[in-house]
Amino acid sequence: MESTGLVLVSLALGLAVGAGFMTLLHVAERHGRRAAEVVNPAVPDGIDQVLDALETAGAVLDPSNNVVKASQAAVSMGLVWNRQLVHPELLELAQRVRRTGEPVSENLVLSRGPFGDASMRVRVRLARLGTRYVLLLAEDRTEAFRLDEVRRDFVANISHELKTPIAAVGLLAEALEQAADEPVQVRRFASRLTTESGRLTRLTQEIIELSRLQAQDALTEPELLNVDTIVASAVDLSRVVADAAKITIAVGKKSGALVNGDERLLVMAVHNLVANAVNYSPEGARVGVGVRRNDGVVEITVTDQGVGIQEADLERIFERFFRVDQARSRHTGGTGLGLSIVKHVVQIHGGDIRVWSQPGSGSTFTIRLPEAPHPAPAAIGDTP
Ligand code: ADP
Repeated sequence: MESTGLVLVSLALGLAVGAGFMTLLHVAERHGRRAAEVVNPAVPDGIDQVLDALETAGAVLDPSNNVVKASQAAVSMGLVWNRQLVHPELLELAQRVRRTGEPVSENLVLSRGPFGDASMRVRVRLARLGTRYVLLLAEDRTEAFRLDEVRRDFVANISHELKTPIAAVGLLAEALEQAADEPVQVRRFASRLTTESGRLTRLTQEIIELSRLQAQDALTEPELLNVDTIVASAVDLSRVVADAAKITIAVGKKSGALVNGDERLLVMAVHNLVANAVNYSPEGARVGVGVRRNDGVVEITVTDQGVGIQEADLERIFERFFRVDQARSRHTGGTGLGLSIVKHVVQIHGGDIRVWSQPGSGSTFTIRLPEAPHPAPAAIGDTP
């Protein structure tokens, strides 16, 4: 009995001594690590905080090109992986900086991460940090570059889009002159001339409208407007085309919703959606237009049973001049600017636009606008 007790006591003692020893080892290791950081005085104190505060991605490389510090952005951009720089181009620049002692700045196209297929456009700057280290700063310019490209494309597209109908007008005028003695031909050419000049008028009007909207951040003089009236005016503008295609436009019941805004712009935006719903639907189809008030938001919904839009194209349909099917859009007199205009109109009204679509089933576009409160009853009574 006694001997068992002794064994237990010595076992407990042994464990306690062992645990104490482990703790000592751990503390010693921690101290050692901290000491190692202190003996690297060339990495300035506080570089972590500086890297965190930077909007650009940043990393510090030691003389063997190991990444000793990296900001979160450098990791999420895929520049640093497993404490190494992912891209050989960056390593080369780091070597150059060490060799020459001069900082370098370059624009590079790099893969996004070690396994990524996508590429990104990055502006990098590398410079020496103390005597042993190199600091790398990288700014992701992919989005800025894309926007710049979109802007350049817009100008190129305008010229291209205008050239086609202008050339057609010239050719048709010539043909008309030559066919002066053939009344049937004259009528045919004259009618095509009218179509082309109509296209030119619409195109120039929409380009001017879009340029104006893009230069405008907010409404200058918003008015209190009745959403049901806006919807009725927009639908009226599409009646003739819808009737010709035997398409029924069904308008839901009145909502009584009010918004602050510009009536002409809002009618144009809703009309663009209704016109698209009609244009991209087969003959005899049905288009639904409804207004709903939902927790301070007015939702104007335009639904069709038309061709629908593939998911891959959904993000692009609001871009200027983007058309899923060039031929179909041209046939319906589309300019590819309609949805761009809608997006801008909605934006300057403090709202947004959403789309749901399924190829073959149809599409639903929803404009969401902040609802304006109804004026106090006395104020209505005051109006003459
Ligand atoms: P467009 O003048 O060509 O109609 P939009 O900017 O209005 O230009 O629309 C861009 C493209 O989005 C259209 O060319 C068409 O491919 C697609 N689209 C827009 N609305 C619809 C819809 N209701 N159903 C199917 N496709 C649509």
